[in-house]
Amino acid sequence: MLTVYNCIVHQHDLRLVALAALICGISSFSAVNLLHHIASSTSRNRLTWLMIAAASTGFGIWATHFIAMLAFTPGIPNAYNPELSVLSLTAAVVLTAVGMWVATLRGGLDHHLVGGAILGGGIAAMHYIGMAAFEVQGRIEWNLLLVAMSLLAGVVLAALALVVVLRRPSLPATLGGAVLLTLAICTLHFIGMAAVSIFPDSSIEISQYTIEPTSQAFAVAVASLVILILSGSALWIDLRFRRQKLEVDRMHGLANAAVEGLIVCDGSRIVSANESMAKLTGMATGILNGMQLGGLFDERVASDMSSFGEEPCEAELHARDGTSIPVELIARSIDYCGKPHNVIAVRDIRERKKAEQEILRLAHFDPLTGLANRRSFSGRLEAEIAAIGRSGKGGHLALLLLDLDRFKEVNDLYGHGAGDAMLQKVAHCTAGVLRPGQMVARLGGDEFAIIAPNLADPLAAGRIADAILTTMREENRLSVGGGLVSASMGIALYPSDADDQASLISHADTALYRAKTEGRDTYRYFEASMGAEARDKRVMEHELRQAVARKEFYLVYQPQKEISSGRMVGFEALIRWRHPVRGDVSPGIFIPVAEDSGAIAQIGDWVLTAACEEAARWENPLTIAVNVSAVQLHNPNFSRKVHETLMNSGLAPGRLELEITETALVKDMPRALATLRQVKSLGVRVAMDDFGTGYSSLSNLRAFPFDKIKIDGSFIKSVDKNGQVAAIVRAVLGLGRGLGLPVLAEGVETLGELKFLDAEACEIGQGYYIGRPGPIGEFSELTGVINQPAVGNGTGSHRGKSVLAFAPLPELSVKRA
Ligand code: C2E
Ligand code: MG
Ligand code: MG
Repeated sequence: MLTVYNCIVHQHDLRLVALAALICGISSFSAVNLLHHIASSTSRNRLTWLMIAAASTGFGIWATHFIAMLAFTPGIPNAYNPELSVLSLTAAVVLTAVGMWVATLRGGLDHHLVGGAILGGGIAAMHYIGMAAFEVQGRIEWNLLLVAMSLLAGVVLAALALVVVLRRPSLPATLGGAVLLTLAICTLHFIGMAAVSIFPDSSIEISQYTIEPTSQAFAVAVASLVILILSGSALWIDLRFRRQKLEVDRMHGLANAAVEGLIVCDGSRIVSANESMAKLTGMATGILNGMQLGGLFDERVASDMSSFGEEPCEAELHARDGTSIPVELIARSIDYCGKPHNVIAVRDIRERKKAEQEILRLAHFDPLTGLANRRSFSGRLEAEIAAIGRSGKGGHLALLLLDLDRFKEVNDLYGHGAGDAMLQKVAHCTAGVLRPGQMVARLGGDEFAIIAPNLADPLAAGRIADAILTTMREENRLSVGGGLVSASMGIALYPSDADDQASLISHADTALYRAKTEGRDTYRYFEASMGAEARDKRVMEHELRQAVARKEFYLVYQPQKEISSGRMVGFEALIRWRHPVRGDVSPGIFIPVAEDSGAIAQIGDWVLTAACEEAARWENPLTIAVNVSAVQLHNPNFSRKVHETLMNSGLAPGRLELEITETALVKDMPRALATLRQVKSLGVRVAMDDFGTGYSSLSNLRAFPFDKIKIDGSFIKSVDKNGQVAAIVRAVLGLGRGLGLPVLAEGVETLGELKFLDAEACEIGQGYYIGRPGPIGEFSELTGVINQPAVGNGTGSHRGKSVLAFAPLPELSVKRA
């Protein structure tokens, strides 16, 4: 050891020794790093990195040796053989390459040891070939023991260095490996140098080496440092590249896992797209990568990336098949491969758009008919009115309200499916008639509205109404089984009839009401007088609610007699309203108003009670017929009310007859049937009133437990003179006979009618000819109650003929006899 120490201290320029040690340390550190890199490189890059590592490490070892040799001052002239010097460098590079290759070929101690040993062999080969290149004017003698020790130290330390570096890669392992490799190089070199003894011999010729050793040393050091720096830089670049690749792969993996489309853009150029994006566009990621944003989105997105940022923005995506897909874009700036990029999330919003449209449709359109709904109608009407106000131009805006006639009854009769189909047909008929700019809406139920703006002439609205009614009639004619019901329409004009939306609607409604009351299947224009009527109706509704309490109602009674004998059968109780200002109001006027407003429930109860109490007082057990409206019949408590009234009045149930019209039945057939059965179970009788004016349905007659049919007065009028009417009456009489039901003829006004009915064997008659309705006091002979006070405040005067006008007719009795 002392020999080695003496060799370093006394025979070397210590400054150059230090430089050699520095170069050695740096190249060792670089070598172990490159070694890691080779080990982790793919097979394609492995060879390149092996060559880079071998060149830089070999050069470093060689430079260490060379500088250390230059530091060696034997005190006699010396020189270097260039060929051998190059050979020593080559040996260092080649054996380093082989050693590193073996060591990194596979993991495991044996490979690391063998590879390291080969590397150590490389250091030794380089050193001793390098020594062979060393020419000195003297004889060189070798201490073989030290030579062997140098070889052993170099090989063992190099092998250890590679084991440490490769076994468990870490920073301490790298540093430890670098120190061991430095030691391997230096130990081998300096023990090797200590093994040398030079005996000066002036006879030995050496080649003339002119360059000054220190300059040579620095030149070599600089060269080796440059190589080391270059290889270090390459290593750094590669590591960065790998890190980026790793980052890109990781991003791709993450991006592909995303459900949404993702694209990474450098400016407006797409540099990466995920699988979802490929699926959405129908283009492979390979095609997408490199595309311009303009190829996928509209110009706005493509040209101005700043137009959409973290706030989602909507755009159209052009898919490969030419379709446009609505998407939502959210952009975010990211650092991608060390450069700022925009990552854009592309969300397919087709489903959302569909749902939005559906919601919009439901909010603005009627789902059954597809027409605009009430909300759209109001919006449009408001806009049209505002437009007229703004423009200040003439022209009329017509509002037509359409309501189907008796739709509810048809709906109840044939079921909701048929009702729906009918509404669709009406929508179709109406929409087909309208011109562009006109609108039809379904306001609900069987109510429709038509807005017709910019009409040059008010009569144009009537033409629209006519066209609709004609189309519906035509449709009716063509459909099997009747098809459509008819409709009534009311027309109001803006600005001539109303100056705001609410009054325009209200006026059209008033006109509609008029069309309904004047026969249906027609239309009416609003007239100022109708407005007064509508107001009047509201006032009447209010007054009717108080009329019972104010004792304004009273009953009149109309006799019903057996036609063949003139025998008194009973009375029909008919309500009268004596209004303090209006005077006597006909039930034909106020009953429909009371039915609409619901006041009929209270009024009907009063009639039932008053009529039963009255009849209960009669000596003669005549029947009392009481009219019952649909509203009463559909009240679930109705039969209980009848029962209570009978109990309270003491009237025998068999004397009470309830008159029900057919239209009252069909509103809710099952409930009507249930109520009638309950009433019948009390022993009360039921008559079908006004037969012939409603549906005149045989099935209704069979389905409901009637005890009597009352033919409407309109069929009796001139029955003796009109052959057609006579045929109808005969048919109804035949129907009654077939069903075993007695038939009562209403509105018998003349002897001729009476004779006809008698001849046709109609059982019972009622009418002015038989007896006009009057206060019960006028019928005391028939009721058997003398001096009876009228129930209620029935003070109505008896108009016209005497009640006794119809006595058993001798002609009739004779005829029958
Ligand atoms: P309705 O039940 O068919 O009653 C018969 C109507 O015909 C009565 O009219 C009666 O005065 C009238 N009339 C009787 N004989 C003749 C005739 O020979 N010629 C003509 N032209 N008419 C005749 P009124 O009293 O005006 O009643 C009209 C309708 O009002 C009734 O028709 C009935 O539907 C309803 N009504 C009357 N009273 C009540 C009631 O207390 N409750 C309910 N719910 N409705 C009632
Ligand atoms: Mg009646
Ligand atoms: Mg009637």
